[in-house]
Formats: sequence, structure tokens, C-alpha cells
Amino acid sequence: MGIVFPETCICCGASTLATGKSICNWCCYDRFANAELTIGEILPAGVHFQFSMWQFDKGGYLQKLLHDLKYNFMMGVGEELGFLTGKTFLENADKDLLEILDVHNPIVVPVPLHHKKERMRGYNQARAIANGINRATRWELAEPGVVSRVKRTKTQTGLSLSDRSENLQGAFQINHKNLFDGRFVVIVDDVYTTGATTFELAGALLDEGITGAGILTVAKA
Ligand SMILES: [Zn+2]
Repeated sequence: MGIVFPETCICCGASTLATGKSICNWCCYDRFANAELTIGEILPAGVHFQFSMWQFDKGGYLQKLLHDLKYNFMMGVGEELGFLTGKTFLENADKDLLEILDVHNPIVVPVPLHHKKERMRGYNQARAIANGINRATRWELAEPGVVSRVKRTKTQTGLSLSDRSENLQGAFQINHKNLFDGRFVVIVDDVYTTGATTFELAGALLDEGITGAGILTVAKA
């Protein structure tokens, strides 16, 4: 049985025969607006940076791509997007930030889904993205289950940041506490909107004694 390479870009339909990837070079590098690296005071204490590769084009192609990624079991596409996100971060972050990461033995943690939700969808898209980030950065990737989502939350759409935060309180449980001691945790998700989910996870990890956290996502809404 041979490996079947995709022939057209899942994002725009152009031929990708030359690269064997699922997303063409135009979509990867030129098509979408770059999002900026955020550092400093608008992030909660202990969260050192937030970086998204692309600015979300609401109602557009990026939205459809990330929706498909969430619901249509596209492990390979998630990994490609994660690899690009990790690579773009390394190219955009300044030396000081990369040094802080380096000395604190960074570990990549994809935002976990509640186990019932994951079973329903068949996989966690954040983990697919984290696989790619691990490949691009060589930072350790946390095994599934070291952090879990113990609270099922209703849809967050339309809620303010404070309502979202309240909704998410106690949503995450850290199961392997020693693993994180003194380390820098890079939290990975598909889309960054208000940041409520990643902030709650960062807070739970900071309570367990991590040095700091950063947030990496494919897109920013
Ligand atoms: Zn394309």
C-alpha cells in the first residue's frame, strides 16, 4: 500500500503536486495577513507572550480551514499548520525571549478537550498542531493525559472575557505535577480569541510552579 499524496491545496484548490503538502505555498506564506507577537502588560501575570501566525479572516477561507481542522480529522493538515506556526515564531521572536525559553526547558502543552468531546470528534486538533510545533522547535511535547479538561463548558461564543473566565474556572486539572516544576510551558491552540481558555490553563499550571507560560496559535480572531 503506497502513501497517497494530496494533489490539491485544501485551502484554495491549487495544485500541490510539486510539494506533496496539503496546503500550497501561496496559502502558507503569502495569502493571509500575519498576526503580531504580543508581549507584556495586556497578558495576565506569568504569561510572557502570545503569538499567532495569521490574522483570522472572519467568514473567509481561514475560518473554513480551521473549522474543517476541528471537525474533519485532519491530523496531517494540523501538523503542517503547527510546523509553520513554530517556524514562524522562531523567526519572529527576539533573542531575549528565545533565551528565556531555552534556559527553562520548554514543554509544549496542547489545550486538552474534555474526553467526551474528544471521543466524539475522534481527535484533538490542538494536539495535531502541537505535533508540528514540536517538530519545528524541538521543544518537548507533553504526552496526552498529563493535563486534562475536567469540566465541560458551554459554547463561549458571545460571552465577554469575564463571563468566559467564570465559565472556565476549574476547567483544567494537572495530573503530572512534577513534570512541570520550574519549566516554561508553551500552550497550543488553534485560534486565539479572548484568550480565556489559554489563560485559565496557564493559571492552573502557574499554580503548580511553572516558571512562565506562552501561547502559540495558528490564527488570531
Ligand atoms: Zn492554497
